[in-house]
Amino acid sequence: MDGCETIGKDRGAEGTKLVDPFGRTVKYLRVSVTDRCDFRCQYCMSEEMTFLPKSEVLSLEELDRVCAAFVRKGVEKIRLTGGEPLVRKDIMVLVNRLGRHLKTGALKELTVTTNGSQLTKLAPGLAAAGIRRINVSVDSLKEDRFREITRRGDLNQVLAGIKAARDAGMQVKINAVALKGVNDDEYDDMIRWCAETQTDMTLIETMPMGEVDHDRTDHYLPLSLVRARLSEKWTLEDLDYNSGGPARYVRVKETGRKIGFITPLSHNFCESCNRVRLTCTGTLYMCLGQNDAADLRFPMRVEKDSDELLEAAIDEAIGRKPKGHDFIIDRRHKGPAVSRHMSVTGG
Ligand code: SAM
Ligand code: SF4
Repeated sequence: MDGCETIGKDRGAEGTKLVDPFGRTVKYLRVSVTDRCDFRCQYCMSEEMTFLPKSEVLSLEELDRVCAAFVRKGVEKIRLTGGEPLVRKDIMVLVNRLGRHLKTGALKELTVTTNGSQLTKLAPGLAAAGIRRINVSVDSLKEDRFREITRRGDLNQVLAGIKAARDAGMQVKINAVALKGVNDDEYDDMIRWCAETQTDMTLIETMPMGEVDHDRTDHYLPLSLVRARLSEKWTLEDLDYNSGGPARYVRVKETGRKIGFITPLSHNFCESCNRVRLTCTGTLYMCLGQNDAADLRFPMRVEKDSDELLEAAIDEAIGRKPKGHDFIIDRRHKGPAVSRHMSVTGG
């Protein structure tokens, strides 16, 4: 892909901005670059996953092309996710290509959400491409438990990856899914560990996305409860800091580090939602919790020399961005509220 022509030319910010029917300007694109993963986290995937055939997955050139179109339309932040983005073959070619938008200033931030398994190898390259911050998922600091949750992950490899990322100059934020009866005895230790390693942490509520091998309500843990428990031990100071997403942030006075609480099941962040999600097949989801989507692969493949159709499809999709989502997780609704897995939309 090196030397590939960027179709649709990088025309800077002259394209029209993406404003949805509720007046929200879309500035944040999350891109799932693959549905594959080297882990099988219990809450995310089933043991036996069927992954997509390669022909359905966007090529690196197509991913670059669609990202460029969004940047022209005013997107300022791109997050690469998955599946595991860093196991996609030649992912660094895409990362380096996207880095050009950072150089022009059109893109303010390029970032990655990863399970950390490839970071010892890739962290220096990510930093060199202009990535300043990454999110690494760590649901437990106990080796055996980590292996059990991820079914095949190696905690030490991930911790070495986090060190490599920090050594390369990137800020690391830890993502941990709050799981009742699984890791809810560890948050104090995690807070201490974050202080030692100078990392911030985000706790995430489980979301009912995709069929997994167990009843997810068994492990559902409301973060309001976690927060109440933590504040018995730590001084949690509310922060105004708003990432434009579903996280609310506090600072732990004793350590100085931040904790984010992502509660996607509550509706309170929808009104400030500035993001859309692209799957690795080129399907654009305008809301994590709704099924309406737009196909961006077809206009790209049908019109190879121009981005006119692609841009029109993006505009049309943003014109349908819904007001909010409708997640339900309770015992009356055993199945997932949204049938696709998080590894398809990338969270
Ligand atoms: N593989 C990368 C990783 O694990 O960080 C990126 C993709 S993963 C789908 C993105 C984030 O979504 C991870 O932090 C993961 O823990 C979280 N996640 C996956 N399935 C989830 C679910 N059903 N509910 C809540 N969070 C979930
Ligand atoms: Fe893979 Fe991330 Fe899903 Fe775990 S959460 S199975 S690491 S995609």
